[in-house]
Parts: sequence; C-alpha cells; structure tokens
Amino acid sequence: MQEQAFIIEKDQLFSWLEKLQQEFLLIGPKKQEEGGGVAFLPIKSVQELDLNYTLTMMGPQIYLYPPEETICTVWRKDDGGFEVRMREEVPRQVLFAVRSCDLQAILVLDKVFLRPGLEDRNYRLWRENTLLIGLHCSSIHPQCFCASMGSGPFFEPRQGYDLLLTDLGQIGYLAETLGERASSLLAALKAQPATQTHFDQKRQIGHYLLTQFQKSIDTTHLVEVLLKNQDHPVWSQTADQRCLSCTNCTKVCPTCFCYNTKDTVSFDLVRCERTRYKDSCQELHFAQVHGANFRSTRSSRLRQFVTHKLATWVEQFGCFGCVGCGRCMSWCPTGIDLTQMAKEIMVSEGLYDRRRQT
Ligand code: SF4
Ligand code: SF4
Repeated sequence: MQEQAFIIEKDQLFSWLEKLQQEFLLIGPKKQEEGGGVAFLPIKSVQELDLNYTLTMMGPQIYLYPPEETICTVWRKDDGGFEVRMREEVPRQVLFAVRSCDLQAILVLDKVFLRPGLEDRNYRLWRENTLLIGLHCSSIHPQCFCASMGSGPFFEPRQGYDLLLTDLGQIGYLAETLGERASSLLAALKAQPATQTHFDQKRQIGHYLLTQFQKSIDTTHLVEVLLKNQDHPVWSQTADQRCLSCTNCTKVCPTCFCYNTKDTVSFDLVRCERTRYKDSCQELHFAQVHGANFRSTRSSRLRQFVTHKLATWVEQFGCFGCVGCGRCMSWCPTGIDLTQMAKEIMVSEGLYDRRRQT
C-alpha cells in the first residue's frame, strides 16, 4: 500500500481540517463543559479540538460501531409480502486524533466484524466512509499500559488508518500516510517531504514515552497462566468484595463487541424496526440460555471479562482483546483492575514479585 511522509506545520493542519469539513463530518477530542473531561464529539470549529488529551471515557470506535443502531426495517406490503430495507448509507466522517491504543482497538474490531464470510454490513459501511487520522500520545496516562500489550505508545502496524501524526513540537507534525485516499487529500497542502532526521526525532520521543509508563504487565506467560487458574481465589475475592455488576468496564472497553437486538413493531403491524445495542457479559441475563444460566455468579462473569481480554481472545482472534488503554479500571466505581488480578495469579505461580510497583 502506498506510504508517504510529510511535515505539516501546525496552522497548516488546522486549515486542512477546515477544508475537510466541507466534505466530511469532523469527529475529534473536545473538552466537555462542566468538568466532563474530553470526549470524541462532532467538531464545529477546529478551535474546539483538545489535542493534549490522554484518555477519553468512550473510545472513538463508537462512531464505527455505535452503542445503539438500527440494523434494518421490515415493511408489510399491500400484497401481503414483506420488504426488508437495510441501511444503505452513512455520513462521510473523519475520526481525528485517535491514539495508538484506539487504532489497535479498531483493528481488533475489524477482526471481529470484517471476517471473510461473516462481515457486518453496517460496520463495513461506517469503516469505508471514515477517514481515520491517528495522533500519537505526547504524555502517558497513569492507568495506561499499552506498551505492555504491544499497542503503543506509537502505532506500528501499517494498516487500518489513513494518516498517522506525531507531534514534533515547533517543527510541526510528522504525517505518515497510508493508501491513496490520504495522499490525495494531503496533496493540496504541498507539504514538505519528511527526512530521516524527522524519523529520528520521532524515535527519540517514542523512547522517552516508554520511560513514562506507571503501569505494566508481563504478557510472556499470561495466556497459559490465566487459563490454568480458572478456580483461583482472586476471582471470587475481587467479585464478592468489590464488583457491582454495573457493566461500566464492558461499556467503556473499546474492543467489547457483544450486542443484543430488539424488535419494535408499529401499532398497525405495518413496520418493524430491528435495533442492536451493546450488551455486556457482566449482566446476569447475558448467559441465560433455555432456563439455565451458565454464569450466574459475579465471580464467573468477572473471570469471563478478564480471561477473554487477556487469554481466550488470542485463540479466537490471534491477538489480545486488551489494548492497555486503562479505561475499565479508570471507570470502574470500585477501581477493579484486571492487571492486578492477573498479577495476583502470577504471584501464586511464582512468576511475579509482589514487591514490584507496577
Ligand atoms: S480491558 Fe480495560 S484496559 Fe484493556 S482494552 Fe478494555 S478497557 Fe482498555
Ligand atoms: S466496572 Fe467494576 S464493578 Fe462494574 S462490572 Fe466492571 S468490574 Fe464490576
């Protein structure tokens, strides 16, 4: 795939985004009012963008896989038959300033929703109509451990995005394009090509960021250790003492993809709308099947979340289901931290020294 690299001055980037707004809906990090933190929101003016954010509660993937959306409508025709209408189009949008962990989360969702033969139609529509622009972090959130999960602080895969930006300070942004779409959209800028010096600067920033992590986890034996310890006391101790089954962890996790559907039928029985909405393995009803529930305890549900993200996902999709963003522990009302549970198990296996700080 075509790759190019340029240097874009900071003012140039904003005027380029303003031009893009004539064709695309711009979604980016924006400071909310009344202390609400930064969130990915539609941007009216580029001045609203907050490019120094470290963590948003909801990841940008909600604009590719909305928490609730209509799948189809079914109409009863005059001749007694039915007509199924699928969604045919979505707005063209730019997802701007997506961090490395969230780019990785989108790659994970691609594996789920774009599997050959099992493609999700709506996800494909959103993905094809979205220009994805990454912006590498300049600082590290205390709960982030993306370096341990191989998903940051800089995004290494050469796939899944259109443009990847690294802030080089006064020089501007190193802009790495992938594919023709980004190259052609950038052409009007007449930006200077990047040189080896710029890539060396990028590498230095990456090395510095790697020294800033406060949280880490050793993934070397993680999969086998978690699978071997399905009955470890950490599951019931943590769940019984602290888990509220509130589902926050799964709601904010950028790779959680489980959904349920509901049908709404019009009063005259002419129209039926099928909607899907994000579901959660932390809900009691989730594992209710034919009168029996195979995860009726909080500990079994919590274990499901942690072992899926850090172990069984690897067998299912060939990668971890956790990108190390730190959202689940940041928005868990009792601060339950999946890395701490995993470390507790590693301690009992003699693979981790409890005196280590991170
Ligand atoms: S499990 Fe937690 S840290 Fe990992 S990707 Fe999901 S929200 Fe982020
Ligand atoms: S956010 Fe915390 S309390 Fe709520 S379901 Fe998840 S682990 Fe349990």
